[in-house]
Amino acid sequence: MTKDQRKPPWLKKRLPPLQDLLKVKSILGETDLHTVCEEARCPNLGECFSRGTSTFLILGRVCTRDCGFCAVEHGAPVPLDETEPEKVALAVKKMNLQYVVITSVTRDDLPDGGASLFAKTIQAIRALDPEIKIEVLIPDFQGDSISLEIVLKEGPDVLNHNIETVPRFYPNARPQASYNRSLDLLEGSKKSHPHILTKSGFMVGLGETKQEVVDLLQDLREMGCDFLTIGQYLQPRPDRLPVVRYIPPEEFEEYKKVGEGMGFKFIASGPFVRSSFHAEQIFHTHILKIPVSSCSEQKIQDY
Ligand code: SF4
Repeated sequence: MTKDQRKPPWLKKRLPPLQDLLKVKSILGETDLHTVCEEARCPNLGECFSRGTSTFLILGRVCTRDCGFCAVEHGAPVPLDETEPEKVALAVKKMNLQYVVITSVTRDDLPDGGASLFAKTIQAIRALDPEIKIEVLIPDFQGDSISLEIVLKEGPDVLNHNIETVPRFYPNARPQASYNRSLDLLEGSKKSHPHILTKSGFMVGLGETKQEVVDLLQDLREMGCDFLTIGQYLQPRPDRLPVVRYIPPEEFEEYKKVGEGMGFKFIASGPFVRSSFHAEQIFHTHILKIPVSSCSEQKIQDY
């Protein structure tokens, strides 16, 4: 039996035709940029690329950490490409994006963790068009509040930082991270810049209990986190943590209800939900409450 045959029916996806992905792939090739979609082997890559979107990965493609669930290459970091901000802006222009998600590998080797390159990337996009909405999905900067402030003072529309999993799994899943440090980052952002929306996300299926998920939701809410994403963990390579359970769609619905009852503005919860999947539609439709013509509520609920 293949790995795919073992998956429950709700996790089977049809891939879009290859030609639909080529435009985004060719722009990324021309601008010499990386995306987390490709580096992390995201199951939604086909769908996002065929809709003309992607999540830019800055600060190189080699991470200084080695999280147990992550497919991004780890090892000795590469020198920074100081022209990366302009390259991202050029790709944004070519792709005609109105909502941009920028993320990075974790660069514990850099004094500011790469915060200034995040800041320059925001500046480069805003120089192109100040109306473009920007979501930054940042690492924890090892808890350095000065690095966090470097990013926040550029005024991103959304400050996203993934908590990833329940605290019990941190030693295996995020050995170089800290649950409390991630919570503190979200709280610090909300306290110092209350108008910037905070977002987080985590995976289920690593063996967590329902109570642990509820506790995690409560912790995020207490930090003032505005909205979040919950998705099924899928093992990206054989040497990564195994999937302990495939969570049925009804259970995702349950977490959404429980969390929204706690006061989150919106929770995208479903098997294929990932941190930046449908980020633009969620931001406009569920957070700003502005209908977007390309947005389909059905699509968001339909994972
Ligand atoms: S910090 Fe962890 S999750 Fe993020 S890119 Fe590095 S290894 Fe992957």
